[in-house]
Amino acid sequence: MANNEIPQAEYAIVGGSGTLSSDFPKNCQADDVEILADNLHFTTPYGESPAFRIFTVAGKRVLTCRMHGWRSGVTRADASRQVFWVFREAGVQRILSEGGVGTVNHLLDIRDFMVPDDYLDLSVRKDVMLDGRYLLLMQDPLCPELRQALLTATRKRFKGRIFDRGTYAVTDGRHFESAAEVAMMQGHADIVGQSMCPEVYLAREIGACYAGLYYTVNYGEGLRGGVSHETMADIFYDDAPMIGEILLETIREVDAHDKHCQCLEHRKETLLKDVYNEVSSKG
Ligand SMILES: [Zn+2]
Repeated sequence: MANNEIPQAEYAIVGGSGTLSSDFPKNCQADDVEILADNLHFTTPYGESPAFRIFTVAGKRVLTCRMHGWRSGVTRADASRQVFWVFREAGVQRILSEGGVGTVNHLLDIRDFMVPDDYLDLSVRKDVMLDGRYLLLMQDPLCPELRQALLTATRKRFKGRIFDRGTYAVTDGRHFESAAEVAMMQGHADIVGQSMCPEVYLAREIGACYAGLYYTVNYGEGLRGGVSHETMADIFYDDAPMIGEILLETIREVDAHDKHCQCLEHRKETLLKDVYNEVSSKG
């Protein structure tokens, strides 16, 4: 049942496929994690929210939802708005996202990690915003401080290849990309997935830092044999706890308020205020 008593939390994790199968953070090895409440749905201006879980790690309060809030019967644009509206009401300052991605750069292999520093939005769900009050500059769209913390935590847990920069191309899905689409992206992006936009815009709109950890689970179509469902299933079940533990470690290491980044300065008051006021007063 939906309610509007949104618990306060300074951190949030938008879970993807890496945390879904481990029932994050339940199946992670950690003695400092406590689940406070589960299956919380909230009423939002964009419809009832997906289920949230709130937990603490090292005493820090974290709000999390599964699979980016996506579910059948709700557009992904609305799902993202619901999730980020709840984050704003909860007072979230720092957001981590994770997900499985396909390769675009032909040097990448399956089970490489990447913490991207840029994105290329090829989705058509543009203009996904909460209330449009801000002009959003996309300089350093992925928080440099959160990215560094993610990289440090990943290096502690993982001995394979970790790329500390790269460009994430965003497509709408749910289908994967065709060989022609992957070929078109080459030279412009390194990995491809479906979640970074609009999340990166919405995070900036609510004044929160945002960064993500991505695990390559398939070759882009046309590259090295393309997609293997069997490999994807192996990764989905076997590697999920590690990804969850990296996220927990990252939250332990960053502060919610003592920020060493300029994310908030890249959000400006819009110069089109009257236009947006007029639009919103007409609903
Ligand atoms: Zn930041």
